[in-house]
Amino acid sequence: MNPALPVTAARAALARCHACHLLSRMKPLAPGSHAHCPRCGAALHLRKPDSLARAWALTLAAYILYIPANTLPIMTVVSMGHGEPDTILSGVRVLIAGGLWPLALLVFFASVVVPVLKLLALTCLLISVQRKSRWRPRDRTVLYRITEVVGRWSMIDVFMISILVALVKLGAIATIEPGAGALAFAAVVVVTMFAAMSFDPRLIWDALENPDER
Ligand SMILES: [Zn+2]
Ligand SMILES: [Zn+2]
Repeated sequence: MNPALPVTAARAALARCHACHLLSRMKPLAPGSHAHCPRCGAALHLRKPDSLARAWALTLAAYILYIPANTLPIMTVVSMGHGEPDTILSGVRVLIAGGLWPLALLVFFASVVVPVLKLLALTCLLISVQRKSRWRPRDRTVLYRITEVVGRWSMIDVFMISILVALVKLGAIATIEPGAGALAFAAVVVVTMFAAMSFDPRLIWDALENPDER
């Protein structure tokens, strides 16, 4: 233990229970075995288990799902007996043609730009942690925080389709059928959210803790 370094819970062998937040001292364990919270019995970890492997797997899955999310029709509006399936981008074009610029921008930003930015941010975080990078840990932590918060707001599309479907069903002027693209899109959002959750931001700072292990 280097006295020049700040005290961290991991250094002091202290782990906080994920469930009840009780702080416990970690005793040395046989490999493969688990410590349990003395109060509620939940598994104790100094870091999220297999954080990098899980976050990588989920991030790659989200990249793959992003393709059908953008190429498959997200919905079909059937009016007066005929209708064409719309992908996210053709939907944006329809909105622009209808003069609905702000809505077009919102849809384009929320469903095309933001998911890619989130995946790129996660990829950067994963690569930098894997390479034990010591580059701007504070900014990388902020990037992680933004990625996690944005996750809750990127379901806008799915909400919009559900509202549209509800409105149309009520008005009975046309029918809207959600397409397979909507499902793929929802999957992208959920899988990305899980990827962000499985990433342990403390790993960013761990690289600075052990200056010799590079
Ligand atoms: Zn507990
Ligand atoms: Zn475990």
